Amino acid sequence: MADTAHSLEGKVAIVTGGASGIGFATALLTAGAAGVTLVDLKEDALSSAVSSLALSEAHAARVLTVGGDVSEESTAETYVRQTVERFGRVDVSVQCAGISLPSANVVDLDIDDWDRTIRVNLRGVFLGVKHSLRAMLASPSGGKGCSVVLMCSQLGLEGYPGSSAYAASKFALRGLMASVATEVGPSGIRVNAVCPGPIDTPMLAGFSAPGHTTKGNIKRAGQPEEIANAVLFFASEAGSYCSGTTLKVDGGWSKWC
Ligand code: NAP
Repeated sequence: MADTAHSLEGKVAIVTGGASGIGFATALLTAGAAGVTLVDLKEDALSSAVSSLALSEAHAARVLTVGGDVSEESTAETYVRQTVERFGRVDVSVQCAGISLPSANVVDLDIDDWDRTIRVNLRGVFLGVKHSLRAMLASPSGGKGCSVVLMCSQLGLEGYPGSSAYAASKFALRGLMASVATEVGPSGIRVNAVCPGPIDTPMLAGFSAPGHTTKGNIKRAGQPEEIANAVLFFASEAGSYCSGTTLKVDGGWSKWC
């Protein structure tokens, strides 16, 4: 029997960073959704992502792509508005777009790199959360049953050398998540965060953490779908009693930092 509780069956979902890595793996789990909007920086990356999803004709008809920089408010307004215009509402918002710039100790950290990291990883998520919630609250259900998932990081739970800007952005996301969860929880909207360890994506390829794939209890990097499954838990009815929660999915890596 199909596990309808642990699925996006009938829901309308937005996934930022949907052209690559964890966002793309999340998009792969949206087969039964009533609508899916994939947002990413580059239109061509979105087009090839949608091609490689190898969607059925029916599923493809329920996928919308929106290119843009998530740290611009106009992008967040646009992807939420277009989702509502096309699919009628927003039930799920997965805020996955993010960047990790080359490692630098704080004494050498360029102010522009600091600003860019905070801009994309924190301001971009704030804007996505703000506009997604506005649409959820304005729906006939007033948001009941809706879910917002923030892609945080194990480096949002502990420090790591050379990662101060990235870690600051991810620690701040947990503060955003915890506060917003209290604001919209009474309307029936759940807000939660996933904190992945090292996951085998293009981002990890550029991250200089020596031995990161041989640390942890499991002694390997995670796969994007192992994080997408955690996203699906929070996004679906399977996580119906989770609000303001942070789930660490790191193969036991963090205690080895
Ligand atoms: P990824 O494969 O690089 O995917 C991130 C996607 O976000 C890329 O398609 C990227 O586009 C896009 N993006 C970047 N900046 C954007 C912007 N300003 N506007 C719109 N889209 C933008 O990385 P990932 O590993 O899947 O990371 C997804 C999330 O997981 C991130 O928030 C990351 O911090 C978090 N995370 C990852 C790991 C890991 O080990 N991989 C661990 C913990 C947390 P471009 O490729 O064009 O830049």
